[in-house]
Amino acid sequence: MVELDVAGVAQASHTGTLPPRDGVSLALRAAYDHALAHREGAVADYIPVLAEADPEAFGLSLVDVTGSVHDIGDSRVEFSIQSISKAFVYALLCDAVGHEQALATVGVNNTGLPFNSVVAIELNDGHPMNPMVNAGALATTALIPGDSPDERWETIHRGLSAFAGRTLDVDEVVFSSESATNQRNRAIARLLESYGRIRHDPDGVVEVYTRQCALLVDAHDLAVMGATLADGGVNPVTGERVVGAEVARDTLAVLAASGLYERSGEWLFEIGLPGKSGVAGGLVTIAPGKGAVGSYAPRLDTAGNSVRGQIAAAHLSRTLGLNVFASTPRTAPPVPEVAP
Ligand code: GLN
Repeated sequence: MVELDVAGVAQASHTGTLPPRDGVSLALRAAYDHALAHREGAVADYIPVLAEADPEAFGLSLVDVTGSVHDIGDSRVEFSIQSISKAFVYALLCDAVGHEQALATVGVNNTGLPFNSVVAIELNDGHPMNPMVNAGALATTALIPGDSPDERWETIHRGLSAFAGRTLDVDEVVFSSESATNQRNRAIARLLESYGRIRHDPDGVVEVYTRQCALLVDAHDLAVMGATLADGGVNPVTGERVVGAEVARDTLAVLAASGLYERSGEWLFEIGLPGKSGVAGGLVTIAPGKGAVGSYAPRLDTAGNSVRGQIAAAHLSRTLGLNVFASTPRTAPPVPEVAP
């Protein structure tokens, strides 16, 4: 795990609401400045075009469940959503097929292995394990209702755009670059097919998955998308219900267990919130019932998680009292009711 550098930052007690607007702005600015000083990590290059990203880019955005917006730095610089799409496509699947079927067909347990692991599939008798690794994401995309790859793509594109509150575009350069180099994902899809986990043409499934990963978002979009999960499935900016409240809850539970790949345990231990990272440098962190933080900073740790994004999230979790596991003892006994 990266050095989160928050040892001296006091943990505010967990509360039901965010502080007033000025307090959130100050906390966001402090987290931004704190994370900006960090230059560890490396920009992803296994998808060739991603290596061209500006390593210094850093944007941070917080959107709360009232739709109030706080943006800093490169919060409107676009990048490909990559693995963060997995969270939202999974939510669409849960909404379409329900809790039981999503649990049975894709699973919810962490593999403890890198996101593109083939070994994880073999070790688990062909089970994709969870929707946040490539095997589970490919299985998820394959299960999205639709009679053809085009129909499934339409559902995914419409759904992710509703989460963001605007029509998202595909970065065709990223799509081509990844399509030319995604032999490993195609191998994973074939392996899943051999285990009877993918019923459609595996190459068509990989194409839709690669396209969903190439959708362009910015840090602000990620905050809106995350805030939709924080707000029981209703986009707090547009007011549109995108998925059911139970689906939002279930998706966040999966993110808490597996959103940062094999570092998910360390992430939860330090930050105490569901989150999801992508190899282009995006990260979304969700505070249920409060809001979400989106960030963009392309330097990654060795698991593929944005370094500055994690540091900013850790800082905000402490200063805003977001860690869902933090509590303070209720020292004062309840005031006895006195009869008039
Ligand atoms: N499109 C990328 C892949 O499938 C997404 C991986 C990621 O963001 N971790 O390899």
